[in-house]
Amino acid sequence: CGIVGYVGGRSALDVVLAGLRRLEYRGYDSAGVAVLADGGLAAAKKVGKLANLEKELADRPLPSGSTGIGHTRWATHGGPTDANAHPHLDNAGRVAVVHNGIIENFAALRAELAERGHALGSETDTEVVSHLLSESFSSCGDLAEAMRQVCRRLEGAFTLVAVHADDPDVVVGARRNSPLVVGIGAGESFLASDVAAFIAHTREAVELGQDQVVELRREGVTVTDFEGAPAEVRAYHVDWDA
Ligand code: GLU
Repeated sequence: CGIVGYVGGRSALDVVLAGLRRLEYRGYDSAGVAVLADGGLAAAKKVGKLANLEKELADRPLPSGSTGIGHTRWATHGGPTDANAHPHLDNAGRVAVVHNGIIENFAALRAELAERGHALGSETDTEVVSHLLSESFSSCGDLAEAMRQVCRRLEGAFTLVAVHADDPDVVVGARRNSPLVVGIGAGESFLASDVAAFIAHTREAVELGQDQVVELRREGVTVTDFEGAPAEVRAYHVDWDA
């Protein structure tokens, strides 16, 4: 139901959790985060309120890193459980994906992945994306390109945001019929399902168009369509008070 992503000089976990708190009013049944740190990826997810996730993080702290993503879930496929909460990882635990919306053709993709030896551990429509991204990244070595390849195979409505431990300074997002907004800061970049998540940090925003992919780095953002052609983006200033 809510998505936040961050890359910059601060603790990604702090920025992401604060962003998720700003999106809490939308309602959700579980929450989770992933951060890139020390060459790896660390994640935590918990059914229930953000307070449950925060307790989990207090009991089992994540290493500190400056690239991260977070999610609040409103279950559509698979009940509200810890295993179905986002982020979803690939089998190597190197890629993490959060998703709002519905992947309509997930059943066919699940069957295809199972045939290629992937073990899927949740009942969600989302999890196929982490496994597909992992495969695509292995062959192209570029997370934004991997996201484009995967999006071309998906049907339905989605905001997708992903990180990969082998590309630690990048957060990638994509959207089709579901909102995704980018925030441009000084030496830091944000991405969220709603500007409310990052308005405390920057008011310079870029709204993604339909069927676009954004590559988020500290120094700025690159937006393309699902084929990889550069996209025109409209930057605007958010002048209301959150
Ligand atoms: N369809 C996904 C799920 O059930 C995402 C739900 C959402 O938008 O939060 O896990």
